[in-house]
Amino acid sequence: MLPDPPKYQAWRNQMVKHLKERGITDSRLLAAMQKLPRQWFCPETLLDNFLYDIDCAIHIDCGQTISKPYTVAWQTQLLQLKPMMSVLEVGTGSGYQTAVLCEMGARVYTVERQSVLFRKTKALLATLGYHARCFLGDCFNGLPEMKGFQYDRILVTCGAPNLPEGLMQMLKTGGLMVIPIGDGDNQKMYRIYKHGDTPAEWESEMLGDAWFVPMLEGKNFK
Ligand code: SAH
Repeated sequence: MLPDPPKYQAWRNQMVKHLKERGITDSRLLAAMQKLPRQWFCPETLLDNFLYDIDCAIHIDCGQTISKPYTVAWQTQLLQLKPMMSVLEVGTGSGYQTAVLCEMGARVYTVERQSVLFRKTKALLATLGYHARCFLGDCFNGLPEMKGFQYDRILVTCGAPNLPEGLMQMLKTGGLMVIPIGDGDNQKMYRIYKHGDTPAEWESEMLGDAWFVPMLEGKNFK
């Protein structure tokens, strides 16, 4: 087990208080974020002061970021998770969001296109005892390793240029996807409900502004 000094526990109390003030009410989510040490997922050189600032994203490897605590909480609450649901996360990154989903009792499948992050985070999650299945890929044409499988929920943690139809096919009918769509300053958070197989049966709800690194095609084997 990695260290979790009392000062970090105290900061997490503050973080959870601020999340509640900003409208996060899902008690299992708040309990998961209270419990999980975010410092395990951040670079060691990180400035301690920003670790639990709910509005502060932090740079990790490969020019990517660990989403700010508020964004992790907001996206996760939008998922309306129930225990044992299957969740596909697109953009493993640091693994923090993945671990939050595991703490909430979801069966988590997570995909990352940067091989450096994929390897590092897969190893970290295993060390911490999380049973998320990690894949290297981009999801634009599905996940070859999981061909035919459909998920209760899909959570996209990078900004998609538009709604990827391939991803919608990986969602169960009756399921929902939370996804930021758009680029630069014009990115919005959407929740998409899948009522049936055809695009005419997909209902979208726009929930506000979002700022995510872009969802890119292809694996990066550097
Ligand atoms: N959930 C992460 C957020 C990481 S930032 C966390 O908690 O830390 C978004 C991540 O999405 C980056 O690591 C980026 O490399 C990855 N990404 C971008 N496009 C992708 C794609 N098409 N498939 C999988 N991962 C992608």
